Amino acid sequence: MNRLMLLPLLLIPTFAAAQPAAKLSPEVRKYVSVAEPVVALTNVRIVDGTGAAPAEGQTLVIRDGRIAGVGPAASAQIPAGARVLDLSGHTVIPGLVGMHNHTFYTTRGRSVQLQFSSPRLYLGSGITTARTTGGTSPYHEINMKRGIERGEIPGPRLHLTGPYLTGPGGAATMAQVGTAEQARRIVNYWADEGVTWFKAYTDISREALASAIRAAHARGLKFTGHLCSVSFREAVAFGIDNLEHGFFTNSDWVPNRQPDHCHNDMRDSLLKVDMNGPEVKRTIDEMVKNRVAMSSTLAVYELSFPDRPPLEQRVLDALSPEAREEYLTARKEFSTRAPQSTMPELFRRAQQFEVMFVRAGGLLGSGVDPTGVGGALPGYGDQRNFELLIEAGFTPVEAIRVMTLNGARILGVDKELGSIAVGKIADLAVIRGNPIATPGDIRQMTLVFKDGAGYDAPALLAAVKGLVGIR
Ligand SMILES: [Zn+2]
Repeated sequence: MNRLMLLPLLLIPTFAAAQPAAKLSPEVRKYVSVAEPVVALTNVRIVDGTGAAPAEGQTLVIRDGRIAGVGPAASAQIPAGARVLDLSGHTVIPGLVGMHNHTFYTTRGRSVQLQFSSPRLYLGSGITTARTTGGTSPYHEINMKRGIERGEIPGPRLHLTGPYLTGPGGAATMAQVGTAEQARRIVNYWADEGVTWFKAYTDISREALASAIRAAHARGLKFTGHLCSVSFREAVAFGIDNLEHGFFTNSDWVPNRQPDHCHNDMRDSLLKVDMNGPEVKRTIDEMVKNRVAMSSTLAVYELSFPDRPPLEQRVLDALSPEAREEYLTARKEFSTRAPQSTMPELFRRAQQFEVMFVRAGGLLGSGVDPTGVGGALPGYGDQRNFELLIEAGFTPVEAIRVMTLNGARILGVDKELGSIAVGKIADLAVIRGNPIATPGDIRQMTLVFKDGAGYDAPALLAAVKGLVGIR
Protein backbone atom coordinates (compact mmCIF):
# COMPACT_ATOMS: atom_id res chain seq x y z
CA MET A 1 0.00 0.00 0.00
CA ASN A 2 1.12 3.54 -0.70
CA ARG A 3 2.39 4.83 2.64
CA LEU A 4 1.03 8.28 1.90
CA MET A 5 -2.44 6.83 2.06
CA LEU A 6 -2.08 5.99 5.75
CA LEU A 7 -2.71 9.48 7.09
CA PRO A 8 -6.14 10.14 5.66
CA LEU A 9 -7.12 6.60 6.60
CA LEU A 10 -6.66 7.51 10.27
CA LEU A 11 -9.67 9.75 10.01
CA ILE A 12 -11.93 6.97 8.81
CA PRO A 13 -13.56 5.20 11.75
CA THR A 14 -11.83 1.92 12.45
CA PHE A 15 -15.03 -0.10 12.04
CA ALA A 16 -15.20 0.57 8.31
CA ALA A 17 -14.16 -3.01 7.61
CA ALA A 18 -13.92 -6.03 9.83
CA GLN A 19 -10.41 -7.39 10.12
CA PRO A 20 -10.37 -11.05 9.10
CA ALA A 21 -8.25 -13.25 11.35
CA ALA A 22 -6.28 -14.39 8.30
CA LYS A 23 -4.84 -10.89 7.90
CA LEU A 24 -3.38 -10.80 11.39
CA SER A 25 0.37 -11.05 11.90
CA PRO A 26 1.92 -14.08 13.62
CA GLU A 27 2.38 -12.04 16.83
CA VAL A 28 -1.37 -11.40 16.94
CA ARG A 29 -2.42 -14.81 15.59
CA LYS A 30 -0.69 -16.57 18.45
CA TYR A 31 -3.39 -15.25 20.80
CA VAL A 32 -6.31 -16.08 18.48
CA SER A 33 -7.98 -19.38 19.32
CA VAL A 34 -11.15 -18.94 17.24
CA ALA A 35 -10.32 -17.82 13.70
CA GLU A 36 -13.10 -19.38 11.59
CA PRO A 37 -15.28 -16.94 9.63
CA VAL A 38 -18.52 -18.54 10.88
CA VAL A 39 -18.84 -19.29 14.61
CA ALA A 40 -21.80 -20.25 16.77
CA LEU A 41 -21.72 -19.65 20.53
CA THR A 42 -24.44 -21.91 21.89
CA ASN A 43 -26.30 -22.16 25.21
CA VAL A 44 -25.05 -18.84 26.52
CA ARG A 45 -26.56 -16.15 28.71
CA ILE A 46 -26.56 -12.83 26.84
CA VAL A 47 -26.44 -9.41 28.44
CA ASP A 48 -26.77 -7.21 25.38
CA GLY A 49 -25.49 -3.88 26.72
CA THR A 50 -28.74 -1.95 26.26
CA GLY A 51 -29.85 -2.40 29.85
CA ALA A 52 -32.26 -5.21 28.90
CA ALA A 53 -32.57 -8.18 31.24
CA PRO A 54 -30.23 -11.13 30.59
CA ALA A 55 -31.47 -13.66 28.06
CA GLU A 56 -30.77 -17.28 29.02
CA GLY A 57 -30.12 -20.23 26.73
CA GLN A 58 -29.18 -18.24 23.62
CA THR A 59 -27.18 -18.97 20.50
CA LEU A 60 -25.16 -16.20 18.91
CA VAL A 61 -23.85 -16.61 15.35
CA ILE A 62 -20.86 -14.65 14.05
CA ARG A 63 -20.25 -14.41 10.30
CA ASP A 64 -17.38 -12.54 8.68
CA GLY A 65 -16.73 -10.41 11.73
CA ARG A 66 -20.32 -9.42 12.40
CA ILE A 67 -23.17 -10.67 14.53
CA ALA A 68 -25.35 -12.64 12.11
CA GLY A 69 -27.95 -14.01 14.50
CA VAL A 70 -29.04 -14.11 18.13
CA GLY A 71 -31.91 -16.17 19.53
CA PRO A 72 -33.04 -19.05 21.71
CA ALA A 73 -30.67 -22.01 21.36
CA ALA A 74 -33.60 -24.41 20.96
CA SER A 75 -34.75 -22.83 17.68
CA ALA A 76 -31.44 -21.47 16.40
CA GLN A 77 -30.30 -22.23 12.87
CA ILE A 78 -26.62 -23.01 12.99
CA PRO A 79 -25.04 -22.46 9.56
CA ALA A 80 -23.40 -25.48 7.96
CA GLY A 81 -19.66 -25.43 8.45
CA ALA A 82 -19.80 -23.16 11.49
CA ARG A 83 -17.38 -23.71 14.33
CA VAL A 84 -19.69 -24.47 17.24
CA LEU A 85 -18.65 -23.63 20.80
CA ASP A 86 -20.98 -24.96 23.48
CA LEU A 87 -20.60 -22.36 26.18
CA SER A 88 -23.10 -23.56 28.79
CA GLY A 89 -22.44 -21.76 32.06
CA HIS A 90 -20.99 -18.73 30.29
CA THR A 91 -22.22 -15.17 29.80
CA VAL A 92 -21.62 -13.10 26.67
CA ILE A 93 -21.52 -9.30 26.91
CA PRO A 94 -20.48 -6.66 24.36
CA GLY A 95 -16.78 -5.86 24.27
CA LEU A 96 -16.11 -3.20 26.89
CA VAL A 97 -15.61 0.41 25.82
CA GLY A 98 -12.96 2.00 28.04
CA MET A 99 -13.43 5.76 28.25
CA HIS A 100 -10.37 6.70 30.30
CA ASN A 101 -7.83 4.16 29.16
CA HIS A 102 -4.32 5.51 29.06
CA THR A 103 -1.54 3.46 27.51
CA PHE A 104 0.84 4.85 30.13
CA TYR A 105 0.96 3.90 33.77
CA THR A 106 2.14 5.62 36.92
CA THR A 107 3.08 4.98 40.51
CA ARG A 108 4.32 7.76 42.77
CA GLY A 109 7.42 8.97 40.95
CA ARG A 110 7.13 6.55 37.99
CA SER A 111 5.51 7.20 34.64
CA VAL A 112 5.99 4.55 31.96
CA GLN A 113 4.57 4.14 28.47
CA LEU A 114 3.16 0.57 28.41
CA GLN A 115 3.61 0.04 24.70
CA PHE A 116 3.71 -3.76 25.04
CA SER A 117 1.58 -4.56 28.07
CA SER A 118 -1.33 -2.08 27.89
CA PRO A 119 -2.89 -3.23 24.59
CA ARG A 120 -2.62 -6.89 25.68
CA LEU A 121 -4.04 -6.19 29.15
CA TYR A 122 -6.93 -4.21 27.71
CA LEU A 123 -7.90 -6.77 25.10
CA GLY A 124 -7.39 -9.69 27.50
CA SER A 125 -9.70 -7.96 29.99
CA GLY A 126 -12.48 -7.54 27.44
CA ILE A 127 -11.78 -3.94 26.37
CA THR A 128 -12.30 -3.93 22.60
CA THR A 129 -12.60 -0.14 22.22
CA ALA A 130 -10.67 2.44 24.22
CA ARG A 131 -10.22 6.18 24.30
CA THR A 132 -6.76 7.19 25.48
CA THR A 133 -8.00 10.35 27.25
CA GLY A 134 -4.73 12.29 27.49
CA GLY A 135 -1.41 11.18 26.04
CA THR A 136 2.04 11.68 27.54
CA SER A 137 3.64 10.22 24.40
CA PRO A 138 1.18 10.85 21.57
CA TYR A 139 3.30 9.34 18.80
CA HIS A 140 3.58 6.12 20.78
CA GLU A 141 -0.22 6.03 20.76
CA ILE A 142 -0.57 7.02 17.09
CA ASN A 143 1.81 4.20 16.15
CA MET A 144 0.12 1.76 18.51
CA LYS A 145 -3.23 2.49 16.88
CA ARG A 146 -1.77 1.94 13.42
CA GLY A 147 -0.08 -1.27 14.55
CA ILE A 148 -3.37 -2.59 15.93
CA GLU A 149 -5.25 -1.65 12.75
CA ARG A 150 -2.63 -3.34 10.59
CA GLY A 151 -2.98 -6.50 12.67
CA GLU A 152 0.55 -6.29 14.07
CA ILE A 153 -0.31 -5.62 17.72
CA PRO A 154 -3.10 -7.34 19.70
CA GLY A 155 -5.19 -4.58 21.24
CA PRO A 156 -8.45 -2.64 21.29
CA ARG A 157 -9.72 -0.15 18.69
CA LEU A 158 -8.16 3.10 19.84
CA HIS A 159 -9.69 6.55 19.85
CA LEU A 160 -6.73 8.86 20.20
CA THR A 161 -6.58 11.89 22.45
CA GLY A 162 -3.87 14.51 21.98
CA PRO A 163 -1.47 15.63 24.70
CA TYR A 164 -3.07 17.09 27.81
CA LEU A 165 -3.66 20.85 27.71
CA THR A 166 -3.00 22.57 31.02
CA GLY A 167 -1.87 26.03 32.16
CA PRO A 168 1.63 27.50 32.57
CA GLY A 169 3.39 25.82 35.49
CA GLY A 170 1.29 22.65 35.14
CA ALA A 171 2.53 19.07 34.90
CA ALA A 172 5.79 18.40 33.04
CA THR A 173 4.29 15.86 30.61
CA MET A 174 1.63 18.25 29.34
CA ALA A 175 1.25 21.11 26.87
CA GLN A 176 1.32 24.22 29.06
CA VAL A 177 -0.97 26.59 27.24
CA GLY A 178 -0.78 30.31 27.92
CA THR A 179 -2.95 31.92 25.28
CA ALA A 180 -6.01 31.30 23.15
CA GLU A 181 -3.84 31.41 20.03
CA GLN A 182 -1.47 28.75 21.38
CA ALA A 183 -4.44 26.55 22.29
CA ARG A 184 -5.78 26.80 18.74
CA ARG A 185 -2.38 26.02 17.23
CA ILE A 186 -1.86 22.92 19.39
CA VAL A 187 -5.35 21.57 18.62
CA ASN A 188 -4.90 22.04 14.88
CA TYR A 189 -1.48 20.40 14.88
CA TRP A 190 -2.72 17.23 16.60
CA ALA A 191 -5.92 17.20 14.58
CA ASP A 192 -3.70 17.03 11.47
CA GLU A 193 -1.86 14.10 13.07
CA GLY A 194 -5.11 12.17 13.44
CA VAL A 195 -6.27 12.52 17.05
CA THR A 196 -10.03 12.75 17.49
CA TRP A 197 -10.30 13.91 21.11
CA PHE A 198 -8.60 16.51 23.27
CA LYS A 199 -8.36 16.75 27.02
CA ALA A 200 -7.85 19.75 29.27
CA TYR A 201 -6.19 19.39 32.65
CA THR A 202 -6.43 21.05 36.06
CA ASP A 203 -4.63 24.37 35.45
CA ILE A 204 -5.99 25.49 32.10
CA SER A 205 -7.50 29.00 31.89
CA ARG A 206 -11.04 29.67 30.75
CA GLU A 207 -9.71 31.60 27.76
CA ALA A 208 -7.42 28.78 26.60
CA LEU A 209 -10.09 26.12 27.21
CA ALA A 210 -12.78 27.99 25.30
CA SER A 211 -10.41 28.55 22.38
CA ALA A 212 -9.27 24.91 22.33
CA ILE A 213 -12.86 23.63 22.38
CA ARG A 214 -13.81 25.94 19.51
CA ALA A 215 -10.81 24.79 17.48
CA ALA A 216 -11.60 21.11 18.11
CA HIS A 217 -15.26 21.53 17.21
CA ALA A 218 -14.31 23.38 14.02
CA ARG A 219 -12.49 20.17 13.00
CA GLY A 220 -15.41 17.95 14.01
CA LEU A 221 -13.46 16.65 17.02
CA LYS A 222 -14.46 16.28 20.66
CA PHE A 223 -13.21 17.65 23.94
CA THR A 224 -13.05 16.36 27.48
CA GLY A 225 -11.44 17.56 30.68
CA HIS A 226 -10.07 16.67 34.08
CA LEU A 227 -10.80 20.10 35.50
CA CYS A 228 -10.13 22.21 38.56
CA SER A 229 -9.29 25.81 37.53
CA VAL A 230 -12.42 25.81 35.35
CA SER A 231 -15.59 24.48 36.93
CA PHE A 232 -18.02 22.00 35.41
CA ARG A 233 -20.65 24.65 34.76
CA GLU A 234 -18.14 26.97 33.15
CA ALA A 235 -16.87 24.19 30.88
CA VAL A 236 -20.42 23.19 29.98
CA ALA A 237 -21.05 26.78 28.92
CA PHE A 238 -17.98 26.59 26.65
CA GLY A 239 -19.43 23.50 24.95
CA ILE A 240 -17.23 20.74 26.39
CA ASP A 241 -18.43 17.25 25.37
CA ASN A 242 -17.36 15.12 28.33
CA LEU A 243 -16.13 15.56 31.91
CA GLU A 244 -13.69 13.08 33.45
CA HIS A 245 -13.83 11.56 36.94
CA GLY A 246 -17.18 13.12 37.86
CA PHE A 247 -17.69 14.56 41.34
CA PHE A 248 -14.00 14.44 42.37
CA THR A 249 -12.97 17.14 39.88
CA ASN A 250 -15.79 19.66 40.11
CA SER A 251 -14.99 23.10 41.51
CA ASP A 252 -18.48 24.58 41.11
CA TRP A 253 -18.99 24.53 44.87
CA VAL A 254 -15.72 26.08 46.11
CA PRO A 255 -16.58 29.10 48.29
CA ASN A 256 -15.01 32.41 47.15
CA ARG A 257 -13.59 30.75 44.08
CA GLN A 258 -11.16 32.81 42.02
CA PRO A 259 -11.57 32.42 38.28
CA ASP A 260 -8.84 30.40 36.51
CA HIS A 261 -7.45 29.19 39.83
CA CYS A 262 -7.30 25.60 41.10
CA HIS A 263 -8.09 25.83 44.80
CA ASN A 264 -6.66 23.52 47.44
CA ASP A 265 -9.94 23.51 49.30
CA MET A 266 -11.90 21.96 46.44
CA ARG A 267 -11.97 18.64 48.31
CA ASP A 268 -13.38 20.38 51.33
CA SER A 269 -16.18 21.84 49.23
CA LEU A 270 -17.01 18.38 47.92
CA LEU A 271 -17.27 17.04 51.45
CA LYS A 272 -19.53 19.90 52.53
CA VAL A 273 -21.89 20.44 49.62
CA ASP A 274 -25.46 19.28 50.24
CA MET A 275 -25.89 16.35 47.85
CA ASN A 276 -29.65 16.92 47.77
CA GLY A 277 -29.43 20.70 47.57
CA PRO A 278 -29.92 23.10 44.66
CA GLU A 279 -26.20 23.54 43.81
CA VAL A 280 -25.60 19.89 42.96
CA LYS A 281 -28.86 19.72 41.07
CA ARG A 282 -27.93 22.81 39.04
CA THR A 283 -24.62 21.31 37.90
CA ILE A 284 -26.28 18.03 36.92
CA ASP A 285 -29.17 19.78 35.16
CA GLU A 286 -26.83 21.93 33.06
CA MET A 287 -24.73 18.91 32.07
CA VAL A 288 -27.79 16.90 31.07
CA LYS A 289 -29.47 19.76 29.23
CA ASN A 290 -26.29 20.40 27.20
CA ARG A 291 -25.66 16.67 26.63
CA VAL A 292 -22.30 16.66 28.36
CA ALA A 293 -21.28 13.08 29.12
CA MET A 294 -19.37 12.03 32.23
CA SER A 295 -16.69 9.38 32.72
CA SER A 296 -16.65 7.31 35.90
CA THR A 297 -13.16 6.28 37.04
CA LEU A 298 -13.90 4.86 40.46
CA ALA A 299 -11.15 2.23 40.41
CA VAL A 300 -8.31 4.77 40.41
CA TYR A 301 -9.83 6.83 43.23
CA GLU A 302 -10.42 3.70 45.27
CA LEU A 303 -6.63 3.32 45.51
CA SER A 304 -6.55 6.09 48.12
CA PHE A 305 -9.48 4.61 50.07
CA PRO A 306 -7.74 2.99 53.09
CA ASP A 307 -7.50 -0.80 52.93
CA ARG A 308 -9.22 -1.02 49.57
CA PRO A 309 -9.40 -2.32 46.88
CA PRO A 310 -9.05 -6.06 47.57
CA LEU A 311 -5.44 -6.99 46.91
CA GLU A 312 -5.61 -9.20 43.82
CA GLN A 313 -2.88 -11.72 43.14
CA ARG A 314 -3.20 -11.15 39.40
CA VAL A 315 -2.42 -7.45 39.91
CA LEU A 316 0.69 -8.26 41.95
CA ASP A 317 1.75 -10.81 39.32
CA ALA A 318 1.42 -8.33 36.45
CA LEU A 319 3.52 -5.65 38.18
CA SER A 320 7.28 -5.46 37.91
CA PRO A 321 8.99 -5.94 41.31
CA GLU A 322 9.76 -2.23 41.72
CA ALA A 323 6.31 -1.03 40.67
CA ARG A 324 4.77 -3.61 43.03
CA GLU A 325 6.87 -2.29 45.91
CA GLU A 326 5.89 1.30 45.11
CA TYR A 327 2.20 0.45 45.00
CA LEU A 328 2.28 -1.57 48.22
CA THR A 329 4.19 1.21 50.02
CA ALA A 330 1.58 3.80 48.99
CA ARG A 331 -1.19 1.43 49.98
CA LYS A 332 0.35 0.98 53.44
CA GLU A 333 0.54 4.75 53.90
CA PHE A 334 -3.16 5.15 53.14
CA SER A 335 -3.86 2.38 55.63
CA THR A 336 -1.78 4.06 58.35
CA ARG A 337 -3.73 7.29 57.92
CA ALA A 338 -7.11 5.54 57.82
CA PRO A 339 -8.56 7.19 60.97
CA GLN A 340 -8.18 10.71 59.47
CA SER A 341 -9.07 9.75 55.89
CA THR A 342 -11.94 11.65 54.28
CA MET A 343 -11.81 9.35 51.25
CA PRO A 344 -14.56 6.96 52.39
CA GLU A 345 -17.04 9.86 52.57
CA LEU A 346 -15.79 11.51 49.38
CA PHE A 347 -15.97 8.21 47.50
CA ARG A 348 -19.51 7.54 48.70
CA ARG A 349 -20.55 11.00 47.51
CA ALA A 350 -18.88 10.51 44.13
CA GLN A 351 -20.75 7.23 43.67
CA GLN A 352 -24.00 8.93 44.65
CA PHE A 353 -23.34 11.76 42.17
CA GLU A 354 -22.92 9.26 39.32
CA VAL A 355 -26.24 7.61 40.09
CA MET A 356 -27.96 11.01 40.40
CA PHE A 357 -26.50 12.06 37.04
CA VAL A 358 -27.80 8.95 35.29
CA ARG A 359 -31.22 9.13 36.97
CA ALA A 360 -31.47 12.74 35.70
CA GLY A 361 -30.89 11.52 32.14
CA GLY A 362 -27.10 11.91 31.92
CA LEU A 363 -24.87 9.74 29.76
CA LEU A 364 -22.23 8.00 31.91
CA GLY A 365 -19.29 5.99 30.57
CA SER A 366 -16.43 4.45 32.51
CA GLY A 367 -12.73 3.74 32.27
CA VAL A 368 -9.85 2.60 34.41
CA ASP A 369 -7.36 5.50 34.40
CA PRO A 370 -4.28 3.35 35.20
CA THR A 371 -2.47 6.16 37.02
CA GLY A 372 -2.33 7.41 40.61
CA VAL A 373 -0.35 5.15 42.94
CA GLY A 374 -0.40 2.25 40.50
CA GLY A 375 -2.89 -0.37 41.69
CA ALA A 376 -5.54 0.06 38.97
CA LEU A 377 -4.06 -1.73 35.98
CA PRO A 378 -5.21 -1.45 32.37
CA GLY A 379 -8.24 -3.74 32.00
CA TYR A 380 -8.16 -5.10 35.55
CA GLY A 381 -9.28 -1.72 36.89
CA ASP A 382 -12.02 -1.55 34.23
CA GLN A 383 -13.34 -4.85 35.58
CA ARG A 384 -13.14 -3.51 39.15
CA ASN A 385 -15.23 -0.54 38.00
CA PHE A 386 -18.08 -2.98 37.34
CA GLU A 387 -18.20 -3.88 41.05
CA LEU A 388 -17.85 -0.24 42.12
CA LEU A 389 -20.70 0.90 39.86
CA ILE A 390 -22.91 -1.77 41.40
CA GLU A 391 -21.80 -0.66 44.87
CA ALA A 392 -22.79 2.89 43.81
CA GLY A 393 -26.35 1.75 43.24
CA PHE A 394 -26.58 0.72 39.60
CA THR A 395 -28.06 -2.65 38.74
CA PRO A 396 -25.58 -5.06 37.13
CA VAL A 397 -27.19 -4.68 33.69
CA GLU A 398 -27.06 -0.89 34.04
CA ALA A 399 -23.38 -1.14 34.94
CA ILE A 400 -22.77 -3.25 31.81
CA ARG A 401 -24.53 -0.59 29.73
CA VAL A 402 -22.34 2.14 31.27
CA MET A 403 -19.28 0.09 30.32
CA THR A 404 -20.40 -0.74 26.77
CA LEU A 405 -23.18 1.02 24.86
CA ASN A 406 -22.85 4.32 26.74
CA GLY A 407 -19.17 4.54 25.87
CA ALA A 408 -19.93 3.75 22.24
CA ARG A 409 -22.52 6.53 22.24
CA ILE A 410 -20.05 9.05 23.69
CA LEU A 411 -17.54 8.06 20.99
CA GLY A 412 -20.20 8.20 18.27
CA VAL A 413 -19.71 4.56 17.20
CA ASP A 414 -22.89 3.07 18.66
CA LYS A 415 -24.38 2.17 15.28
CA GLU A 416 -21.62 -0.44 14.88
CA LEU A 417 -20.43 -1.22 18.39
CA GLY A 418 -21.40 -1.26 22.05
CA SER A 419 -24.28 -3.73 22.13
CA ILE A 420 -25.19 -7.20 20.93
CA ALA A 421 -27.48 -6.88 17.92
CA VAL A 422 -27.67 -8.48 14.50
CA GLY A 423 -25.55 -6.58 12.01
CA LYS A 424 -23.21 -5.04 14.55
CA ILE A 425 -19.50 -5.83 14.62
CA ALA A 426 -18.75 -8.97 16.63
CA ASP A 427 -16.83 -7.42 19.53
CA LEU A 428 -17.79 -9.59 22.50
CA ALA A 429 -16.50 -10.81 25.84
CA VAL A 430 -17.22 -14.38 26.98
CA ILE A 431 -17.28 -14.78 30.76
CA ARG A 432 -17.23 -18.08 32.66
CA GLY A 433 -20.05 -17.76 35.19
CA ASN A 434 -22.69 -15.11 35.68
CA PRO A 435 -21.55 -11.55 36.50
CA ILE A 436 -25.17 -10.46 36.95
CA ALA A 437 -25.52 -12.73 39.98
CA THR A 438 -21.83 -12.70 41.00
CA PRO A 439 -20.15 -9.49 39.81
CA GLY A 440 -16.65 -10.80 40.53
CA ASP A 441 -17.14 -13.31 37.71
CA ILE A 442 -16.33 -10.48 35.29
CA ARG A 443 -12.67 -11.35 35.95
CA GLN A 444 -13.19 -14.79 34.39
CA MET A 445 -13.03 -13.85 30.74
CA THR A 446 -12.18 -16.82 28.59
CA LEU A 447 -12.54 -15.43 25.07
CA VAL A 448 -12.63 -11.89 23.76
CA PHE A 449 -13.93 -11.42 20.22
CA LYS A 450 -12.82 -8.45 18.18
CA ASP A 451 -14.00 -8.25 14.56
CA GLY A 452 -15.24 -11.80 15.08
CA ALA A 453 -11.79 -13.22 15.89
CA GLY A 454 -11.74 -14.93 19.29
CA TYR A 455 -8.71 -14.08 21.43
CA ASP A 456 -7.57 -16.36 24.24
CA ALA A 457 -7.93 -13.89 27.13
CA PRO A 458 -5.77 -15.77 29.67
CA ALA A 459 -2.96 -16.04 27.08
CA LEU A 460 -2.99 -12.27 26.52
CA LEU A 461 -2.84 -11.65 30.27
CA ALA A 462 -0.11 -14.26 30.84
CA ALA A 463 2.08 -12.47 28.28
CA VAL A 464 2.49 -9.39 30.45
CA LYS A 465 3.41 -10.93 33.80
CA GLY A 466 5.97 -8.78 35.60
CA LEU A 467 5.98 -6.14 32.84
CA VAL A 468 3.60 -3.44 34.11
CA GLY A 469 5.84 -0.60 35.20
CA ILE A 470 8.50 -1.51 32.63
CA ARG A 471 7.07 -1.77 29.12
ZN1 LIG B 1 -6.46 10.49 32.95
